[in-house]
Amino acid sequence: MSAERSFRAEVKSLRLGAGETFHGEGVVAVTKALLQSGVAYVGGYQGAPVSHLLDLLVDARDLMDELGIHVETCANEAAAAAMLGASINYPLRGAVTWKSIVGSNVAADGLSNLASPGVTGGALIVVGEDYGEGASVIQERSLAVAMKSGIWLLDPRPSLERIVTMVEHAFPLSEASNAPVMIQLRVRACHLQGSFAARDNVAPPVGTRSPLSEPAAFDYSRLAHPPVTFEHEKLKVERRLPAARAYIRAHGLNEIFEGNLAKVGVVLTGGLYNTVIRRLERLGLADHFGDSRLPLLVLNVVHPLVPEEIEGFCAGKDAVLVLEEGNPEYIEQQVCTILRRAGAGARVFGKDVMPVAGEYTAEAVGEGLAAFLEATRPAGFDGGLVARERTRVEEGREGGLAALPDDLPPRPPSFCTGCPERPVFSAIKILEQDVGRVHIAADIGCHAFATFEPFSMGNSILGYGMSLASAAAVAPFQRKRSISIMGDGGFWHNGLATGVIGNLLNEGDAVLVIMQNGFTSATGQQYIPSSARGKGGRPPGMDIAATLRSLGVPWLRRVRSYSVGAMVDTLREALVTERPGLKVIIAEGECQLARQRRLRGENALRLENGERVVQSRFGIDDEICTGDHSCIRLSGCPSLTVKSNPDPLRDDPIATIDESCVGCGLCGEVAHAATLCPSFYRVDRIRNPRPRERRLAAIRGAVLGLLRRGPG
Ligand code: SF4
Ligand code: SF4
Repeated sequence: MSAERSFRAEVKSLRLGAGETFHGEGVVAVTKALLQSGVAYVGGYQGAPVSHLLDLLVDARDLMDELGIHVETCANEAAAAAMLGASINYPLRGAVTWKSIVGSNVAADGLSNLASPGVTGGALIVVGEDYGEGASVIQERSLAVAMKSGIWLLDPRPSLERIVTMVEHAFPLSEASNAPVMIQLRVRACHLQGSFAARDNVAPPVGTRSPLSEPAAFDYSRLAHPPVTFEHEKLKVERRLPAARAYIRAHGLNEIFEGNLAKVGVVLTGGLYNTVIRRLERLGLADHFGDSRLPLLVLNVVHPLVPEEIEGFCAGKDAVLVLEEGNPEYIEQQVCTILRRAGAGARVFGKDVMPVAGEYTAEAVGEGLAAFLEATRPAGFDGGLVARERTRVEEGREGGLAALPDDLPPRPPSFCTGCPERPVFSAIKILEQDVGRVHIAADIGCHAFATFEPFSMGNSILGYGMSLASAAAVAPFQRKRSISIMGDGGFWHNGLATGVIGNLLNEGDAVLVIMQNGFTSATGQQYIPSSARGKGGRPPGMDIAATLRSLGVPWLRRVRSYSVGAMVDTLREALVTERPGLKVIIAEGECQLARQRRLRGENALRLENGERVVQSRFGIDDEICTGDHSCIRLSGCPSLTVKSNPDPLRDDPIATIDESCVGCGLCGEVAHAATLCPSFYRVDRIRNPRPRERRLAAIRGAVLGLLRRGPG
């Protein structure tokens, strides 16, 4: 499924059985736990940090087949959520995966319509919770989605054993309460390394090898349709919620770690556990093995909370600190309500000592714990520890800053070297010098790197495949046409229906550029309907141009993305043509990262067979470069950099190309299209050259030798 990585070793680990030990990564452990749980079907849509879960299952197709598990690579998250509908009527355990919050938003309709009738077979949604530092999406939490729909949310303490245990409990929890369950995994949890005692994989009782002979009987209460939806709403609260709480208590899904500072305690979401323990250790309140002097209630289930557990933990305490990232503070408010209703006296700290929004980083947790301890001063606590830790942190920060050079240049994220999407933005930049600025509706995907320097292009991003739709109300208020940018992944995910069909239906007059690089590149080069290769190595056989033509798109051009001059001309035509209706430019160029990986293997094979292999690199002539750096401003290629001017009469640093150049040719194209300068040259490194090429090289070498010697 993915061109990025092979999962041969991980696939082997999925076959481990009882008596063996699994060693590896969090996301692989989750996959193994699914197989140990007797899932009958799995699906999802790629997105960091859980892309590899589905990639792995697709790569493990032989094992899936042996066990009788159906694997579906869904067209988007909505399709994945709808897939869980199999668990409404049938005793089938199923799991799907996507990136949250964005994927949960796309899936929201399906999730609501799943959660309303509820499930018979256990249904699990594994979400990559892309929240906090390093996140690539809007900052919202899955907790809000889970709470509003009546889906139970697991947030396991980051340890492979605990994660696996929680996945295995998710299915019986779902079945006991007839509600879907979601498990959230942060980037660090997905890539966490560890081990656990493996169990045998379980073939589902009903699977692709043992199908049902009859469909389920008609049962109106299984439909998310009035009037039964009114009954569903009551069921969620009156039956499913108590059943879930009973299961959580009976199986000890949440964990209490006692400590001798018994008058205070911390209630924390499971995902924060490692950070909290480390900060407690720094404060001298925990050891390396996680033994904490501060009592901890670790919520491996963050929805629903179990009032008896909260009351029990807080009984006899003067104060508790609730650690829950983001806003609103749903858990803190519930803890306050639970304690108030119970007449418990513990004071609740939370957002008053912690940041109101954003990730609880190690520093934020350390500061919050210190503030809590200073305010509560529990008996047996040495207040000097806090002061000493504060001094240490401050000295560390100052030392760290002092170690950084003063003139550290900013390094904005950028396209990969040689990316086929960069030239399109170079073309837009050149075109804007003639026609002025145009509104650019940006999208999700690698092309969003164009929002950074040196392009700084894109007026809005409204979601994956949503650029054309997001320009619908812009066009009527602009004299110039707007340009919407969309990747081929986004086109198939949502852009075709939401953007193209919407535009045609409304007789819109926009320009759409589709980056056809062959994959959903930003998530690890998974295959899409128009990829050259798909499931089982076969081409999926769907074509973007043919699809657009079949819909009656009136103006369609295909341009090689590296041909900057042709792209400028085509964009100009699209912006000024009298022809009404949607104008689509398909910018064609294989994802360079995927291409380099492909070429590495292909070239190695060719060399082994003694075949000719050509590798191109570009260079800049030191003597011709004027040092104005317009090539850098127009392309932004990371291989293009500057060096000291070798000419003693000139001060300006000149442009140069470093070793990372992949020879895409963009810099030369840009120089030509923007009529910059003739400094660029191409060098072809030929291995196993033909006899003619050897002779030519010998002649050239001899001539150059003569020239070097000169007339004397
Ligand atoms: S992954 Fe591919 S499409 Fe994305 S920036 Fe890199 S080369 Fe470009
Ligand atoms: S230096 Fe030029 S040819 Fe080399 S990768 Fe960058 S843009 Fe392409």
